[in-house]
Amino acid sequence: MIIVVKPGASKEQVQQILNQLEHYELKAHVSEGAERLIIGVIGDKSRLPSGSLELLPAVEKLVPIMESYKLASRAFRPEGTAFDIKGIHVGTDELTMMAGPCAVESEEQVDEVARVVSGCGARFLRGGAYKPRTTPYSFQGLEKEGLKILRRVADRYNLLVISEITSENDIEYASDYVDIIQIGARNAQNFRLLSAVGKSGIPVMLKRGIAETIDEWLGSVEYIMSEGNYKIIMCERGIRTFETSTRSTLDISAIPVLKTKTHLPVIIDPSHASGKAQYVRSLSLAAIAAGADGLIIEVHPNPMIALSDAAQQITPDDYRALTKEIKAIAQIIGRTYPG
Ligand code: PEP
Ligand code: MN
Repeated sequence: MIIVVKPGASKEQVQQILNQLEHYELKAHVSEGAERLIIGVIGDKSRLPSGSLELLPAVEKLVPIMESYKLASRAFRPEGTAFDIKGIHVGTDELTMMAGPCAVESEEQVDEVARVVSGCGARFLRGGAYKPRTTPYSFQGLEKEGLKILRRVADRYNLLVISEITSENDIEYASDYVDIIQIGARNAQNFRLLSAVGKSGIPVMLKRGIAETIDEWLGSVEYIMSEGNYKIIMCERGIRTFETSTRSTLDISAIPVLKTKTHLPVIIDPSHASGKAQYVRSLSLAAIAAGADGLIIEVHPNPMIALSDAAQQITPDDYRALTKEIKAIAQIIGRTYPG
């Protein structure tokens, strides 16, 4: 259930609502929109004597939320979620561009990519330090050293860092180096990890699970939000279907569907969706045209010798060319391109 607060309600009147909820052991999540204050109520509502909330002077109306996800639902923040990470806005009209190699391999490798992508709109440097590989015999990432490299290089080019963590034990260490924690497709329903990143308060980019429905994915979001962390970006990275021409199938419909179901920003990962560098351009352009809030793209100085995902990483030159086209589409649909 959500409580829509009357415009102009005083602080004391809002507090009265919160006190009432606390009294009946219900958890309140407050969303302060530009026009409306909304309170998400989580817990056993049957405890509330009927009519006890409606009578409070600041309550405009109570709206039940039928979906199993509550805080993630559009009703909680009808105007959409936008937030700030160290001065960089996410979820506004400006597209969010994230780019970098699949895995951090060396400082020189990351530097070469960061130099180019920072010059053409990217605000976030990606790079895997903890790599969730399909087999234990593949390159597993540089781990702590990888995070240090990312931070050093990002600071050099005025970029922010996004990197995946795969265990709750790594959150504390990573918090000194990353600006956004990425939760990968393989951990999309690792609920303990989701709760732990929720508790950390660090912004999170949550990828869609390989075989997760959109509603299940929103359930995953709810695990993070219910811990009080609302700085979440959802990332569609392709789902498993019967099609084998691409690594996964990019669910382009997820963009308009999510825009109706949730208030959170949505970005697209065309690299893992296609698994092939040659398709990254088409999927990127389609995603922006369909209303995505941004892209995360794998870029490697020499994809042929990449230690992971060699087939899908594009070169810095290709990234530069692609961003010109993205800029053109952004203009047509009334979005701004960073830089
Ligand atoms: C990644 O972005 O590095 C990654 C492993 O992606 P996914 O979790 O989508 O497979
Ligand atoms: Mn990868």
